[in-house]
This record gives sequence, C-alpha cells and structure tokens, in this order.
Amino acid sequence: MCKPARELRISWYVASVLDLLIVGGGPSGISTALHVQAAAPGARIAVLEKATYPRDKICAGGIGARAFRILERIGVEVACPHVPLDAVAMRIGGETVVVREPGCGAVVRRIQFDHAFAEVARGRGIAIREGCEVAGIAVDERGVTVELAGGEVLRARAIVGADGVAGVTRRACGFPRGELRAQAVELDTEGAAADLPRDTVVFDFATTELRGYAWDFPTLVDGAPLMCRGVYLLHDTARVPDQARARLAAYLAERGLDIARYKAKQFAERGFEPGAAISAPRVLLVGEAAGIDIATGEGIGQAIEYGAVAGPYLAAALAEGALGFDDWARVVTRHHLGWQLAIRHGCYRAFYGRRRAKIERLMPRLTELFKVGVQDFAGVPLSKLALLRGAGQFLAAFTRAKLA
Ligand SMILES: Cc1cc2nc3c(=O)[nH]c(=O)nc-3n(C[C@H](O)[C@H](O)[C@H](O)COP(=O)(O)OP(=O)(O)OC[C@H]3O[C@@H](n4cnc5c(N)ncnc54)[C@H](O)[C@@H]3O)c2cc1C
Repeated sequence: MCKPARELRISWYVASVLDLLIVGGGPSGISTALHVQAAAPGARIAVLEKATYPRDKICAGGIGARAFRILERIGVEVACPHVPLDAVAMRIGGETVVVREPGCGAVVRRIQFDHAFAEVARGRGIAIREGCEVAGIAVDERGVTVELAGGEVLRARAIVGADGVAGVTRRACGFPRGELRAQAVELDTEGAAADLPRDTVVFDFATTELRGYAWDFPTLVDGAPLMCRGVYLLHDTARVPDQARARLAAYLAERGLDIARYKAKQFAERGFEPGAAISAPRVLLVGEAAGIDIATGEGIGQAIEYGAVAGPYLAAALAEGALGFDDWARVVTRHHLGWQLAIRHGCYRAFYGRRRAKIERLMPRLTELFKVGVQDFAGVPLSKLALLRGAGQFLAAFTRAKLA
C-alpha cells in the first residue's frame, strides 16, 4: 500500500531503529505516546511535530470531561487556563433544551492546551521533535522509513499517523481521502445579551436549510472572558466555505454583532466512516487522521481516547512483533470510542436525512436521551433510569408523530 522504501532518498546511514514514530504532536499523537509509554515503559518512541510549540490549531476547544478521566488513569493532568463547563444547551425546533451536568467539561485554547499536553509527555521522557515535518513514508517488510522535509531519514518498526485532517500519513500510505468532511468557521467576540451563563456551551440548530449548526462557547483569550462562536457545516457542496461564513455573519447579526469586526478562521474536519480502513501493515491511524465525530465535529476527546485505545494495543503488538495491525478497526469498534463514533454517525445520517423536519420536532421532547449524551460527554456512568426514560420518551414521541 505504501511507497516502497527504495523510492526514498536515504541521506545518511540510519544507525538506530525506533520502535514507533508518531507523526503529529496534537492530542491524538501525544495521548498515543503517553499511553504506549504507560503500557510499555521501555518502548523507544518519538513524536514528530512539524510546528513549534506553542502552536495554534483552529478549534473551539470544547473538551468533555471523559477525556480528562481517561488521562487521570495514567496520572496525567493537563494544567492550562480553561473555562469549566456545567451544562450543554441545544436550540432546536424553536426551543432551548439545557442539560446540567456539573463538571461535564472545559473550554481551552488549543495553543495552550496542546503545548501543556506535550510538556507532560516530555516531562515523562518522551522524545518530541518540533519543527520536524514528515515529507515521505515508505513501508517494507522489516520496518518503516520516514523522510523529513530537510532530507533526514528515520527508521522505525511501525508508524502512527496522528497528523490530523490533512496529514501526510494517509496520503503517503495510500488510504483514500475519505468522504465525510465538514468545514468549520469560528471567531471570538465579546458577550451578547442572548448568551446563556458562561458555564454552558450552546449548539444552535435553528438553520434548517443547511446541514450543520452554530455554536457559542465561553472562552478565555489571554485571560479575557470572550465567546468563541462558529458554524459547522457538512461538506457536501463546493459552496460550503462561503455558506458557513454567511451563516456565521447572520448568526452574529441576530446577536447584534458585526462579523466585519472580527477575524474569522476556517478549517476542515474529517468524520469517522464505519468500515473504512484505518490501518495497514506497520501503519496505524488515530485521531482525526482516522476520523472523528461527524455529527458535531467534536474531536479532541476522541483524539485522546484513540490514544488510550492505541497505547496498550501497540505495546502488545510491539512485544509480540505482530505489526500487521489488521484488527485495529475491530478493536476501535468494540471500544467505547468506536460505538460512540458509530452512534454519532447514525445520528448524523438520520438527522440530516429526509426526515430532518420531523426529527427536529421530536428532539426537544427527548430530554432524557439528551441527558445520556451529556453524561457520555462528561464520562460519568450512564444513568440506566435516564436511558429507560429516554427510550420511553422516544417511543411516545415517535408514536405521537406517526399518529399525527
Ligand atoms: C473550527 C473548528 C472548531 C473545532 N472545535 C472543536 C471543539 O470545540 N471540540 C472538539 O473536541 N473538537 C473540535 N474541533 C475538532 C478538533 O480540532 C480536532 O478533531 C482535533 O484537533 C484532532 O486532534 P488530532 O490530534 O487528531 O489532530 P490535530 O490536532 O490536527 O493535530 C495534528 C498534528 O499533526 C501535525 N502535523 C500535520 N502534518 C504533519 C507532518 N507532515 N509532519 C509532522 N507533523 C504534522 C500538525 O502540526 C498537528 O500538530 C474543531 C475543529 C475545527 C476546524
């Protein structure tokens, strides 16, 4: 699948072969490195990051507490400025539904969070090479050869592609580009009268003619309490980038804000596609390189969870010398991460399909299911009572809609 090694220019003799090279030092790459080290302290690993920390990533920075709980299990706490969250709100079908779940997450600035996360890994002795862009990857039967942009060549037994939505690993190793894409545009503004309390993130599905939503997340920019507002749109037409910006302009105008006063940033996202290849011999994809939640575009928590699943998996594979990775997709699918991504994929298909108007009318009635979703985001044990009530609410609402 990958380019044969002889096609790469090997500029100097590669004396040491590492166990693992991780391409990308974002949440998925750092989480994978930390979890591999926790499971196999002797593993020789290095993270290759093309940027230099502190580096920014266009992102609203909302993270469910599930991710923090996952990191706690390996004794990791990422200390950086953040806005604590106690509630999630959804505006849909003309109503606003708020679910309170104290401590359900936090909003961070990626420039600070990713730097602090990488420092934790460094503090544990993990080698992170910054300003180190991977330009080529070649796999042979004995290992992986990685060529850096400057011409240096590294060699490892296996490689992890944690290089995000437009990373080199997918391209170099022949994975398809992927169909499930979205565009998100965001900016930071002062508060507005319509804002909910600052412990709440808001998802606004008021625009039914577009496949996506607008958001308001409380954020801290250099200590100043601002709001990160944005629009997430599924990428099904070439006009989506313009549509996203136009929708954001209208959304801001409804709140008395003029888009021309702010600097908007735009970036793509890649969704998880059930059944798609996320590994090849000696090559494993994690985080957004593999695919994140396409329904909401949430990906930081998933990136950290991918690392938690990949850590013990890679440790065992390295110990056994079994580096075919042919069961990686199955391992992900059987884990909480996989079923969460699969459920969200199902929700995306249902919600943005032909029955959207009906579903929008049902959603404000499904408060118990919404509560379960927020508990999952928070990583607290799911309430069986809420699940039962949710199923009951769904059946009742569905029957009413059928009879109407
Ligand atoms: C506008 C917007 C808002 C978002 N808001 C949220 C949100 O509020 N909450 C949420 O959970 N998710 C959000 N997301 C999604 C989230 O940002 C990503 O899913 C998440 O960053 C994925 O983490 P990752 O580690 O897989 O990839 P990334 O964070 O993209 O990290 C990849 C790393 O790889 C490095 N890299 C790339 N190519 C190379 C190379 N050739 N060589 C070496 N290094 C390389 C990059 O420099 C980068 O550091 C948002 C996305 C967008 C676009």
